[in-house]
Amino acid sequence: MGASVEELDTATLRVAFGVVALTLLFLFYFVTFRRTRSVYSAWWCGALALFLVGSAAYLLDGSVHQVWANPLGNALLVLGAVSVWAGARTLRTAGPPTWQILAGPAVTILVSAFDNPSINDWSGGGVFLGMMTLFIGMASWELFVLKRYYSKIRQPLAIASGLLAVYYLGRWLTFLAEGPDGPTFTAYFDSSITTLITLVLLVVVSFSMAALSNEQVTHDLHLRATRDALTGLLNRSGFHDLAVNELKRMRDTQMPGALVLADLDHFKSVNDTYGHAAGDVVLQAFAAACEGTVRSTDLVGRHGGEEFIVLLSGADAHRAEAIVAQMSRRLAATSLPEGLTAPTVSYGIAPIDDDGADLSAIIASADAALYEAKSLGRNRAVQGLSARKV
Ligand code: GH3
Ligand code: MG
Ligand code: MG
Repeated sequence: MGASVEELDTATLRVAFGVVALTLLFLFYFVTFRRTRSVYSAWWCGALALFLVGSAAYLLDGSVHQVWANPLGNALLVLGAVSVWAGARTLRTAGPPTWQILAGPAVTILVSAFDNPSINDWSGGGVFLGMMTLFIGMASWELFVLKRYYSKIRQPLAIASGLLAVYYLGRWLTFLAEGPDGPTFTAYFDSSITTLITLVLLVVVSFSMAALSNEQVTHDLHLRATRDALTGLLNRSGFHDLAVNELKRMRDTQMPGALVLADLDHFKSVNDTYGHAAGDVVLQAFAAACEGTVRSTDLVGRHGGEEFIVLLSGADAHRAEAIVAQMSRRLAATSLPEGLTAPTVSYGIAPIDDDGADLSAIIASADAALYEAKSLGRNRAVQGLSARKV
């Protein structure tokens, strides 16, 4: 019979693990991180380095250095798991605050240091395994809830990290029940088996992570190219691209709609009186008023300067008038910095019917209506003609 997995020498496996982790770190750093500079890949590089140094520390077990190397190894591996979680989190939201990054490793090293690390090569084992389970589980959860922006690549990642979390949960519970020398623990959960499993996972995760990092960068670029930085609304071209599709969908389903151009009244005097920064605040307030009023399926964009554009689907021209009145009320009700009063707004509303007019003709109709609203004295909405008749 050949050597069973339990008979494989843990130290040799750890060296193999170190070599693979180092290779991945190099490849990942130079191929993915340097090119994409994505936040996610930075965290993964950190995790690889921590796994590498952490498991190298365990090679000192059995020597006089075990007393510091064993607790340090535990803490570095936990910090590696924290990095995996933090990286996964950056795909959805901001990275965690520093204390959440450091608390787990700090507790682990403290408990391990007080658990006879000079003779006990499982010092702090219960806390270490609990922390690993917790952070790998949290990383997996982050990948599972990440639905909207990322492709199917995250699924194998979420499942791989989920399985690893379950494996660590098994290790942890078995360790608590029977200790490191128990029959189940040595048969299924000892260090050599874990090293093999994590080795395979490192490769799988690095591979998928490279793909995810590319996607993160593409997504950021797309967001920057289609959104207005000041208000977060769609910018002119972002709005145009989505509106063309939406218009087609409305026509296909014979759904009525309206296109609104909104222009803040005498906005130049807000800038002149209170400064450009105050003007920016007002623009943000109106953007919020628009988004707060329309349905989430409607499109809101910044058409340029202090002009905004809204595509309302399913709303006829009368309904659109009620909606823009609501926008003005919301803006007027916004609390602005001391002394600043919200300007009024003029609107041009173009009906969208089944006349087959294209987006630019509809915008031209709304623009003519807006011009009329301005010349009639501002602070009002004017209905444009059906685009065909302009
Ligand atoms: P009207 O009622 O006829 O629309 O008058 P108005 O003053 O609103 O129109 P006008 O076109 O004369 O002025 C628009 C001003 O909007 C001028 C420009 O400096 C300002 N503006 C454009 N973009 C921004 C911006 O991003 N931030 C700020 N603060 N001001 C901006
Ligand atoms: Mg204006
Ligand atoms: Mg204007």
